[in-house]
Amino acid sequence: MTATLIDGKAIAQQVRTELRGEIETWVAGGGRRPGLATVLVGDDPASAVYVGGKQKASAEVGIEGFAHQLRADTPEEDVVALLQELNADDRVSGILLQLPTPDHIDGSHLTTLIDAGKDVDGLTPVSAGLLVKGLPGLRPCTPSGCLELLRRHDVALEGAEAVVVGRSDLVGKPVAALLLAQNATVTMCHSRTRDLDAVCRRADVLIAAVGRPEMVKGSWVKPGATVIDVGINRTESGLVGDVEFASAVEAAGLITPVPGGVGPMTIAMLLRNTLLAAQAADAVRASVA
Ligand code: NAP
Repeated sequence: MTATLIDGKAIAQQVRTELRGEIETWVAGGGRRPGLATVLVGDDPASAVYVGGKQKASAEVGIEGFAHQLRADTPEEDVVALLQELNADDRVSGILLQLPTPDHIDGSHLTTLIDAGKDVDGLTPVSAGLLVKGLPGLRPCTPSGCLELLRRHDVALEGAEAVVVGRSDLVGKPVAALLLAQNATVTMCHSRTRDLDAVCRRADVLIAAVGRPEMVKGSWVKPGATVIDVGINRTESGLVGDVEFASAVEAAGLITPVPGGVGPMTIAMLLRNTLLAAQAADAVRASVA
């Protein structure tokens, strides 16, 4: 059998088009226009490209942009002061501190200073706690993107065997928590998992977030399973995922390609989080007014 491809590029575009409409309806109804503040410290060219892409995508859906570019030698206390200012600014619904920061600044610590209501990356300890407890909060973008791909393809999760390979805070753990919240039976695998191939073969839904080119083979995929490949690996033969696509496509029922699968979903989910953050902030303001 040959799997049906999950076209992340098309789905991400669809999400962005829907968001543009939702934001205009929200603003027309008196809601505060969502705003995204980005904080970039230093002049790393790759980070500048990422931040620029996020600001451009925001503008396209009607999110107001607040781009803060700080010199590489900015003292940590100045970045802290800026984050506090952005936390207090009602025009800013979401805050992104672009990592990595220069060596003299503890970027992961500074991330924890972002107000949970504005944590559109969904990666602060407070957001992680809300996710694990099943409480409302902003969810991490790449894992939400994986769930959105499954949802748009009507993949049944309730009672399904889901196997997640990788346990990072960025992808593996939150995607497992999101699958669990959908009542999947979730197994998390990592570098010490025994008989990884056999565990993967149990999966109705297999998520690979390992960072090892083409590690998951087609023979590890249960016939007809859904395979979501989060991996992005640059190799001599180009960009490949964590799944050996050529063999997995023969076994799976649905599969994401790399590129064009999970990747494009991350920014789309960031934009959605920014709208959700704006809506939640307005609801809080209304409740205390
Ligand atoms: P990470 O922090 O390096 O975590 C990798 C995980 O894989 C770890 O939990 C590690 O286990 C596990 N692992 C490593 N080797 C293994 C093996 N041989 N068998 C089983 N498990 C193994 O990576 P990450 O940040 O989660 O990213 C994973 C991949 O997703 C990367 O390719 C990254 O580029 C990609 N990514 C894509 C997007 C996107 O937008 N599409 C976003 C984020 C990440 P231990 O915990 O035991 O070490």
